[in-house]
Amino acid sequence: MTGARVVTFHYTLRDPAGQVLDTSAGGEPVTYLEGAGQIIDGLDTRLRASAAGAKLSVAVPAAEAYGAHDPAQVQRVKRAVLPVAGELQVGDKFQAGEDRQAPVVTVVAIEGDEVTLDANHPLAGVDLTFEVELVAARAATAAELAHGHAHGTDGAGHCQ
Ligand code: ZN
Repeated sequence: MTGARVVTFHYTLRDPAGQVLDTSAGGEPVTYLEGAGQIIDGLDTRLRASAAGAKLSVAVPAAEAYGAHDPAQVQRVKRAVLPVAGELQVGDKFQAGEDRQAPVVTVVAIEGDEVTLDANHPLAGVDLTFEVELVAARAATAAELAHGHAHGTDGAGHCQ
């Protein structure tokens, strides 16, 4: 990662229908170390050539964002086996097991006593468009390169 930068940016993320999925507007901008996996690869690589002050629209295909939607991750199960009390609704999300590492699943259909669950990332299969304003960019410090992450906008931030 020699020559990697630490980049700070604001973004608004939209799906192909133009709906806003997420935005940093009104909040803190995102700061990351290039090539360190702190943001999705498809965005990281597309911002490499941009300098501070740049405003650009960045299209990231699903394959370079959260991956293709995997039909094998969609399963029908009996309502009774689910570890969730109360009423279930389409769109509900919950952890599929006791383990903290258990995947988060989304309820995509309910038919009678059967529930269809999707364990894909909610943005799997979605082509993304980021409107980016690059707030700042600087060379990474030796400590940041050694740690593999950014230490805040000015490099003086602490980490565990
Ligand atoms: Zn660190």
